[in-house]
Amino acid sequence: MRLGVCGWPVAHSRSPQMHNAALAQLGLHDWRYQRLPLPPQLFEPTVRALHQAGFRGVNVTIPHKEAALKLADKASETAQAIGAANTLTFDHDGSIHADNTDATGFLSALNRSAYERSALVLGAGGSARAVVYALKQAGADPIRIWNRTHTRAQALADEFGATARDEPADIVVNCTSVGLHDPEDTFKALPLRADDLGAGRTVVDLVYRQGGTLLLNVARANGAEVVDGLEILVAQGAASLERWTGRTAPDMAMREAVADIAP
Ligand code: NAP
Repeated sequence: MRLGVCGWPVAHSRSPQMHNAALAQLGLHDWRYQRLPLPPQLFEPTVRALHQAGFRGVNVTIPHKEAALKLADKASETAQAIGAANTLTFDHDGSIHADNTDATGFLSALNRSAYERSALVLGAGGSARAVVYALKQAGADPIRIWNRTHTRAQALADEFGATARDEPADIVVNCTSVGLHDPEDTFKALPLRADDLGAGRTVVDLVYRQGGTLLLNVARANGAEVVDGLEILVAQGAASLERWTGRTAPDMAMREAVADIAP
């Protein structure tokens, strides 16, 4: 039985190590999870052939998440509402089912009620869409969105009934790639002051690094609750794996597998 992750590029993905550790822990020795580097023009024909090639399902990452939803025969309510899918499952008859576990993964990693708490989402790309949808579902209020390119923040806010403005909030979620390449740029590139990240706040960084990102380290030192991007990676992967195998995902083994290889 085969599983995989489709992306372009996909060489950086930690999903193979994470899922193969989980499959080994579950004793599913005849299952394998692999990288599938697919340029956009090959995405749809290749995915349509995967069931015949022995695949049970795939994760989908940049830039294919919208295309994945479009080609599916059926889609979960969450995937439809977000307008993108990160998980495809091939049913016995070869039909393709689309899910989005980014939103549920985010909420399970948050591990704290968002109900009636204010939220500030930084970014307006693919992951920000899933996070804004998830926060809305969880009752966060108000939800504000900031993005480097303001028009994208405005469009996302209009779509989900949020506001395109930055203000200190109870829950702050970094959905930009800031901190990935040069941690020192974090507080110059984002509308955040260390003083706004103290006790009573929850700070989530989708970006992850070994030893934590600068954003999370400052927030933790100031007394905020923090949620590491690795936890979100594990939670979305666990939800996908459960969909494919019907088994409870061994999240400890998955966490250990990715923690070892974080940049
Ligand atoms: P994306 O769709 O490409 O969006 C990138 C976002 O980052 C955009 O809002 C972009 O703003 C912003 N941005 C890029 N460079 C910036 C800079 N120098 N200053 C300020 N803003 C900047 O990417 P994505 O899929 O949403 O992913 C965003 C990040 O989350 C990536 O680093 C990714 O690795 C991480 N991620 C982690 C997980 C996880 O499981 N932990 C899951 C998904 C994504 P503009 O609109 O102005 O370009």
